[in-house]
Amino acid sequence: MSEPMHRGAEALGALPTSLDPMALSLNENPFPPLPSVRSALSASIEAANRYPEYLPERLRSLIAGHTGLRDEQVVVGAGATGVIMQVLHAVTDPGDRIVMATPTFDGYPIFAQMARLESVAVALDAHGHHDLDAMASAATGARVVVVCRPHNPTGTIEHAAELERFLRCLSPETVVLLDEAYAEFLAPEYRMDAVGLVARHPNVVVLRTFSKAYGLAGLRIGYGFCAPQLAGRLWSMQLPFGVAITALVGVAASFDAEAELSQRIRMITSERRHLRMRLRSMGVYSTESNANFVYVPDCGRGWGKVFETNGVRVRQYADGGVRITVGDRRSTRAVVAAVAKAMR
Ligand code: PMP
Repeated sequence: MSEPMHRGAEALGALPTSLDPMALSLNENPFPPLPSVRSALSASIEAANRYPEYLPERLRSLIAGHTGLRDEQVVVGAGATGVIMQVLHAVTDPGDRIVMATPTFDGYPIFAQMARLESVAVALDAHGHHDLDAMASAATGARVVVVCRPHNPTGTIEHAAELERFLRCLSPETVVLLDEAYAEFLAPEYRMDAVGLVARHPNVVVLRTFSKAYGLAGLRIGYGFCAPQLAGRLWSMQLPFGVAITALVGVAASFDAEAELSQRIRMITSERRHLRMRLRSMGVYSTESNANFVYVPDCGRGWGKVFETNGVRVRQYADGGVRITVGDRRSTRAVVAAVAKAMR
C-alpha cells in the first residue's frame, strides 16, 4: 500500500512549480490558475472515471459563442499544437510544401517534419517582421503558409492591411495558418477582426490557445476557426475522446472570469514595458514586442551564456539572440541583474 503512494508523491515532486521566477523559456503565464478556475477544475476531476464528450461539441459551442462564430466554424485540439497537426493531416500530403518565417515558433519545423512536408523558411527582416513579399513568392505552389501575429520569437505584428494584401496574393488553394497564440496580449488598436477575416478568406485558419493569456498550458486546450467548409474537413479529423474532461469546465470558468484574466494580461503587458525600458536604459535593444515575451538579438554579446551563468532560463536561438518570457517583478529583476553584470 505504501509503495504506490510513495511513488505518487515522488511524481508530484517532479511537477514544475507554478511560481518560478527563473522559468522564462516557454512563454508561460507566471500566474497560477485563478481560484474560481481551480475549483472548477478540481470538481471536474471527480468525474475522471468518465469519458469526456465523444467529440468536443459543447466545448466547441462554448468557444464559438464567446468568439462570435458559428459552431461549425470551430475545431478544438490539445493546445494550438493539436489543432495545427489536425490541419496538416487534413489538408496536406507528404512532400507538399509549407512556408514559414525563420526564426519562428520551434514547433512549426517539427510539425512539418511529422507531416513529412518540405519546409521553406523565409528570414525575418532586421526588426523581426515577416518578409511578406518574399513569403508570397515562396508560397507559389505551397500547400500551407504560416504567419504568426504576434510573431514568436520577436513579438512583432504585421499591419492588418498588409496582411490582407498578402492574403490576396495567395492562391485560394494555399491554406494559411494565422497563428494568434498571443493575440490576447495585443493593445486594442492592434487587434484584428479575425472573424471577419475568415469570412473574406475561406483558406485562412486562425489558431488560438488557452496556454498563454489564459494560463492553462498544462491542460492542453487550443482551437482554430475558419470558413465552415474547411472547418468541416478539419472536424472530420477530430480525435474521438481527444479533449480531456477538464477542458470544458476550465474554459467555461475562464470565460466567467474574463475580467480578472484581463487584469492579469494588463499586469503582464505593463511588466513587459518595464522590462523593455530597463533593457533600453542599459543600451540593450529588444524588438517591438506585443506578446508576453521580448526578443533580444545577439549583437555579439553572447546573451545565452550570460543568462545561463545567472540561472535565468531563457530560449536561445541559433543566431545568438534570446527570447525572454515576461514574468513577475522578481523575474524582471533577475533578467536586469544578469544583463547589468554582463555590461560591467
Ligand atoms: N503557436 C505559437 C506561436 C506558440 O508560441 C505556441 C507555444 N509556444 C503554440 C502555437 C502552441 O501552443 P499550445 O500548443 O500550448 O497551445
